[in-house]
Amino acid sequence: MPTTKRDYYEILGVAKSASIEDIKRAYRGLALKYHPDRVNADQKKEAEEKFKELSEAYAVLSDPQKRSVYDQYGHTGFDQRYSTEDIFRGADFSSIFSDLGFGGSIFEDLFGGLGLFGGAGGTRRGSRGADLELELPLSFEEAAAGVTKTVTVPRREPCPECRGEGGERANCATCQGTGQLRQAAGFMVIARTCHRCGGQGSTVKKACPKCRGAGRVAVERKLEVKVPAGVESGMRLRLSGEGEGGTRGRGDLYAHLTVSPHPVFHRDGANLLVEYPLSLSQAALGTQLDVPTMNGRVSMKVPAGTQSGTVFRVRGKGLRDVHRGGSGDLLVRVVVETPTHLTGTQRRLLEDFARHFGDESHPAHRSFVAKLRGWLKR
Ligand SMILES: [Zn+2]
Ligand SMILES: [Zn+2]
Repeated sequence: MPTTKRDYYEILGVAKSASIEDIKRAYRGLALKYHPDRVNADQKKEAEEKFKELSEAYAVLSDPQKRSVYDQYGHTGFDQRYSTEDIFRGADFSSIFSDLGFGGSIFEDLFGGLGLFGGAGGTRRGSRGADLELELPLSFEEAAAGVTKTVTVPRREPCPECRGEGGERANCATCQGTGQLRQAAGFMVIARTCHRCGGQGSTVKKACPKCRGAGRVAVERKLEVKVPAGVESGMRLRLSGEGEGGTRGRGDLYAHLTVSPHPVFHRDGANLLVEYPLSLSQAALGTQLDVPTMNGRVSMKVPAGTQSGTVFRVRGKGLRDVHRGGSGDLLVRVVVETPTHLTGTQRRLLEDFARHFGDESHPAHRSFVAKLRGWLKR
């Protein structure tokens, strides 16, 4: 699935510290090896996938800003900030291939219609399919552990009957197949996109019976979305190429995540927060607690004389940090519960208890009283 992507550095086989020259050299070598025009027909499909992967890795790592975002946040964080279009925008491919005579056509074919590669204004026109968005609700547990969700996406895809052509096509009579209309305006000639064929240069002569000439059909596609562990509400995952099909390539699909709250746990980024009620005697005498985490319990020592509101940190027992890797901490806030509904015996015991306690057991109270006296004497 597109969300479980390989590391960009690994794809290009370079170190994290690689210079821009190293990255260019690595990309050029691999791109030549996997260029779809240079492999046997039976390997073409695989080479295309490989070439796309390489080119995306290069586009990101050759741009200092994108590279730093990727270094900092990894794929998940990166995909939240950049779409496929953003990734390729401004990437310099021409200087890498210019001496080999490869034009931009390979990029047009593979990434179709992004309109990012020079020379794309020729006779082959059309548009990239629209991006799609969907809401993906997750339980707290699913967000914590990661999950694979199956979703049904209604989208338009190229018609299998006519392979997206819409039927038998013929050169557009209005623009004579050029896709453009030229009009003299004073000294200048202005070219406009042909209104009849939408710039495609051809029109449907005999409509395909399946799509009635539209070239696309509505389908409901079942997709698996791999959600990494540690995601939060408000994040989105990009499934590149899973959007609508267009005449020049597919759009992306964005899954917006909403995570439902948990009855016991809260979270702050990768830290897991839990409030644990302590009895008066546990707080005063100290105790060993069995504290719940998202996977099992951990034993935690509460020292004698612990005050209400104290937060204990259990390292590494929080949630997975989806941006940086590793795990957050479990933060246990203990709250001392004052006993209520006292029986006669309990009341007498507490009164006895109170008689045995002087100021020396309550330093905060003692210091408060001292400060108060000082203030009143002024
Ligand atoms: Zn036309
Ligand atoms: Zn059709």
